Amino acid sequence: METVTLDLIKNSIRHAMKSSFYQHHFAQINVEDIKSKDDFIKLPFTDKEDLRDAYPLGLQAVPDEKIVRIHSSSGTTGTPVIIPYTKRDVDDWATMFKRCYETAGCTKQDRIHITPGYGLWTAGIGFQAGAELLGALAIPMGPGNTDKQIKMMIDLQSTVICATSSYALLLAEEIEKRGVRDKIHLKKGVIGSERWGEKMRKRIAGELGVELYDIYGLTEIYGPGIGINCQLQDAMHMWTDYLYCEIIDPKTGMLVPDGETGELVITTLVKEGAPLIRYRTHDLTKFVPGKCECGLNYPRIATLIGRSDDMVKVHGVILYPSRVDELLATIDGVSSEYQIMIDHLNGKDILTLFFETKVEMGELSHKLEKTVEHEFKQKIGLTPKAKAVGMGELPRSEKKSTRVFDNRY
Ligand code: ZN
Repeated sequence: METVTLDLIKNSIRHAMKSSFYQHHFAQINVEDIKSKDDFIKLPFTDKEDLRDAYPLGLQAVPDEKIVRIHSSSGTTGTPVIIPYTKRDVDDWATMFKRCYETAGCTKQDRIHITPGYGLWTAGIGFQAGAELLGALAIPMGPGNTDKQIKMMIDLQSTVICATSSYALLLAEEIEKRGVRDKIHLKKGVIGSERWGEKMRKRIAGELGVELYDIYGLTEIYGPGIGINCQLQDAMHMWTDYLYCEIIDPKTGMLVPDGETGELVITTLVKEGAPLIRYRTHDLTKFVPGKCECGLNYPRIATLIGRSDDMVKVHGVILYPSRVDELLATIDGVSSEYQIMIDHLNGKDILTLFFETKVEMGELSHKLEKTVEHEFKQKIGLTPKAKAVGMGELPRSEKKSTRVFDNRY
């Protein structure tokens, strides 16, 4: 860690400790004791659960008169997290977002069609502020009303579409269905950083005829726009003049060796309203080593591969539900519903994979089990015990379904 970075981090910690949240969270910490990266990585993490305890304004680290706006992330349960922004925070965010557009090759000639939502959520307004700072024309559509979206896209000749991957796909399908592709002027898509497969990416790019860019961000750390992939497409540059990034093993909390996958942890360097120190994003990625050929001198992280809450390690192999989804999708006769049980028996980890199938139980289902076991071993490097069950036999949940049950701990 460079001295200048350590100094920025220490300033940020000193500043954060003006908030009631960090006065409590870092009660045992003396900033002057932090003299190296080794000292820094001993600091406790900040997690989303902790931020809920700060509701409503416990994260605020400046006097009220400096706050110009709030945003809020809903989360799936309970209390929202409220993030206060100063004028400088709002400006810094727009500067980062403008840089994202520039990295994607957008200019002030572009007409930027913004479909993410406006409001407490950080999405729409971030896309807009960046577009305006760039000097492009912002078209603040917000989500929904596909008829109007397509009409405006045609009449105003939008050249850049900003959307979630699922909404971009829906628009692409509608444009195709209506046969208006030749009236669309889109050249680029700036797509929010959900996990999305290569299959979906190809469909959107193909049907809309655009180059796609993954934009990264989260409400707790400004919002979308803190990183984006460049025209070389393979990884996202992170704006490390505003952020310090670490990648940790989500189970142990230790830094992973460079180039290994883990959870992204972010420290804000200059944020005023609600600075965050070692904030756990729960997004899984890895550092991409070396300097990018595009010439940008910002470090890169790989496209997100999932959430750390979903990942488990068996026999030293990290298992991601996203990989299992992809694998099972390639096997005929296996439905999308499955469950994995991991147990520890007689000193060994045992992996059992239940999957639903329409094939008849008996010889056929047994054959399918063997195929699943073989493919799993080939593609993931683990040998599960595969068990076929009939359609509808695995429990369903209204919320996001849990696929992996780790019974070892
Ligand atoms: Zn690059």
